[in-house]
Amino acid sequence: MMRAAAATTMKTTPSSYSYLTARKTMTQNNGTPAITIKNHQMDNINNNRRRRRQRILHIVSEGTGRFIVGGNWKCNGNRESVKALVDALNKNIANIEKNCDIYCCPTFLHLNYVKENLDTRFKVCAQNSWVEADLVDPEHHYDSTTGAFTGEISAEMLEDLQVPFVLLGHSERRTLLGDTDEIVGKKVAHARYHGLSVVVCVGETLEERENGTTFDVIFKQLKAVAKEIDDREHSSWGSSVVIAYEPIWAIGTGKVATPEQVQEVHSKIRSWLAENVSEDVAKATRIQYGGSVNASNCADLAKLSDIDGFLVGGASLNGDDFAAICNASSVHYKAVGR
Ligand code: PEP
Repeated sequence: MMRAAAATTMKTTPSSYSYLTARKTMTQNNGTPAITIKNHQMDNINNNRRRRRQRILHIVSEGTGRFIVGGNWKCNGNRESVKALVDALNKNIANIEKNCDIYCCPTFLHLNYVKENLDTRFKVCAQNSWVEADLVDPEHHYDSTTGAFTGEISAEMLEDLQVPFVLLGHSERRTLLGDTDEIVGKKVAHARYHGLSVVVCVGETLEERENGTTFDVIFKQLKAVAKEIDDREHSSWGSSVVIAYEPIWAIGTGKVATPEQVQEVHSKIRSWLAENVSEDVAKATRIQYGGSVNASNCADLAKLSDIDGFLVGGASLNGDDFAAICNASSVHYKAVGR
């Protein structure tokens, strides 16, 4: 059972704390003035209260899935460096806890080499798969196996190569390569139809965070996926659809989101799934955080109840660092008592 929001423990801000008054005087119980508080001090007090309240409000649920860490190698590597990374990861395998699922996303060019040479504890994951954007398919399969799509790779090909995972909707594809919410939804449905597990990336820009539309953006991205795959043949959610929350402003910037920010978004994603897909799906879906995760900051984030793993870019190109991030799984299980 997902734990209900701890509404009863939520403290409300006393109405006397108004932002409108230039100076406020707090009074003791007997009515005599105790302290004079300036506006900026009042703001600090209110901000602290708001943060405390958010902490209480957002630790409301947690997933039941295995911790999962992915390495997004992006458009990096040549034959020599990919071989070196594969060797470094293989060398680390004995140091990596068995309680964590792991996938690595090399480029399409290196996918087969990595699949053949990387220890099978690391699953391979493609960085994208093709779907015909204009195709209308009431069955939600979006099969278009005829091949006049120069330069593309289809889910059928990944299935044939026995690639078990595909990463879809990464923000770099959304912003640089025109992947709309709708296309991402179709890609997810198509990949699931071909038996691939998918990692769907969602997340907001800095501008969207600052103008308060973070959840509008993320829920719209999720809705486009749910519309295509909910309850359809071969298109289950559960452990086969992983969601990676990746705030765009944190990707590759070294500016990691705070644990409070991550927990807030993850718990709201889980609540959204509970309300719009099902409670079972909400519990089973792994929600990863991605954005400047490294070997030093992963433990703090892993303690959060709603973080079920990480999607890692830069730090996944170093075998030792990636192994250390995978081992944050034990920190997570300990923190949530599993
Ligand atoms: C990513 O590209 O998915 C990512 C999270 O990158 P980084 O870890 O480098 O921020």
